[in-house]
Amino acid sequence: MECFSPDCPNPVFFQFTWGWGTPAACCREHQVHAQQVHDSQERGKISFTPIDPNAEIVPLGRDERTQLIAGRMSAEQEADEVKARAAQLYNLNTELQGEVRRLRARNQEADLQLKDRAADIERISGERDEALANLADAQTELERVQMLLPRDAPATPRDRPNIVG
Ligand SMILES: [Zn+2]
Repeated sequence: MECFSPDCPNPVFFQFTWGWGTPAACCREHQVHAQQVHDSQERGKISFTPIDPNAEIVPLGRDERTQLIAGRMSAEQEADEVKARAAQLYNLNTELQGEVRRLRARNQEADLQLKDRAADIERISGERDEALANLADAQTELERVQMLLPRDAPATPRDRPNIVG
């Protein structure tokens, strides 16, 4: 706060409250002037309080100390919680890495099984192709034999399904 007197360069020495309720301050030189202002308005004696230059360095009150301690405790608690969470995340990460390793191993196993199956399918396909080729050969052979048979040869029982007895 500065001296109430306009453009006064002096350090303030007193604080006081004007009769109309406004807080103010003044230097030593203008203390009399302030009282004169009051007198001119018949507002009575001003109660001047010396301004202690050390006034701002006040020891902490009980409440402020309590607040500081509470704040520190809460910060420590928060740090503990963060550490606990970090440990939790570390464990979770380790667990997930294990899971990834297990899945990779299973995937490799499945790949191998798939290759085995593919080989089986190839083998079975080869066998099927061979069987089909044999069948075609047999059919050709059958047709050739049938052509060699005389036209008027007696029909086989299979060709006379309507004859009973
Ligand atoms: Zn002044």
